[in-house]
Amino acid sequence: MTRLILQSALAGLLWLAAAAASGQTINLRMSVKVIVHPGTGAWPPGITAQVFTNAVAAANEWMASYCRGYRYQLTELQAIGGPSQGGTNGPSRWYGLEFRGDPLRRQFFNLATNDTRYLLRFDQINIYVASGFANPGDSGGAMPIPPGETNYIGGQIYADDGAWWIVHELGHFFGLPHTFATQPKDSCTPGDDGFTDTLLDSTCWSNQNQVAQFHFGADYDALNNNQKDQVDTVFFNVMSYHDYTNKNTTENRLTEQQLDRITDHANGDRHAFVGGYTRFVSPSGNDSNSGLVNNAPKRTVLNAVNASASGGGDIVLLRPGNYNERTNFNRRVTLRATRAGWATIGKP
Ligand SMILES: [Zn+2]
Repeated sequence: MTRLILQSALAGLLWLAAAAASGQTINLRMSVKVIVHPGTGAWPPGITAQVFTNAVAAANEWMASYCRGYRYQLTELQAIGGPSQGGTNGPSRWYGLEFRGDPLRRQFFNLATNDTRYLLRFDQINIYVASGFANPGDSGGAMPIPPGETNYIGGQIYADDGAWWIVHELGHFFGLPHTFATQPKDSCTPGDDGFTDTLLDSTCWSNQNQVAQFHFGADYDALNNNQKDQVDTVFFNVMSYHDYTNKNTTENRLTEQQLDRITDHANGDRHAFVGGYTRFVSPSGNDSNSGLVNNAPKRTVLNAVNASASGGGDIVLLRPGNYNERTNFNRRVTLRATRAGWATIGKP
């Protein structure tokens, strides 16, 4: 009889395999291109390889805390442009410029698609850096948001060595809107991101009392723990714009629904950039589902395991509940529970 209990916050995961193997995580592949000075070939001020390795390491600490098994992978870091690649007529025409919005973005990617010197990749997220190390609070960029911007396979980034720009901008790349998404321009009226586990948010709010007053009619300190957690979840959300000078240490939260959205795109229109599939399983699911979208989970762990890649590398993600199954798993796969609660296998 098999009896397994999974709880992300404690055990994290169980690795089921007959032999030692790697691959308990799924990589999100990042290709970074640094656009160098057209005349000297120098990198933008303060931009070094260490900036990116530090940023990826910091971002992976955040990602590990979400317990879904994704990791950022810096697959390559390349300098492009400079005097040997056409000077101001080559990729370096963008040096020091902002090209993150259309029509310049469209022009940039038209060139990148037709000019191999841009090193545009179709199986890695393309990150172009044309400016120096970002001042505190200024890191970020403009990553495209599917499904509307699926055709763009990368964007411009203002880099520093912290976690936020990676988790935020790649959050966009895998389908996340801002927490204040529908906030009207030039207005402080709170906006909605469509997720029911994040409160309406406004970019005008600069402290938690303002969030608390709007939603609960009281200051933060007067709230109960559940209310405080809701305020913190949006105020410290990766996809928000609060506390920006400290965002590399404070703005690190993503909710279960936000993480589900990332998986839907990592399994779907962004799968070319991702190292494996996650299959959802739920006590309310159905084994005729693919399990590849969060609102159509499979019902049994065994069915999800059998749908996973025979060579390993996939993750089966169990929604909270009991899975009354006694079975043998015959392939390498990682089982995970979510932070939402316990998942139990084999209890009658
Ligand atoms: Zn953003």
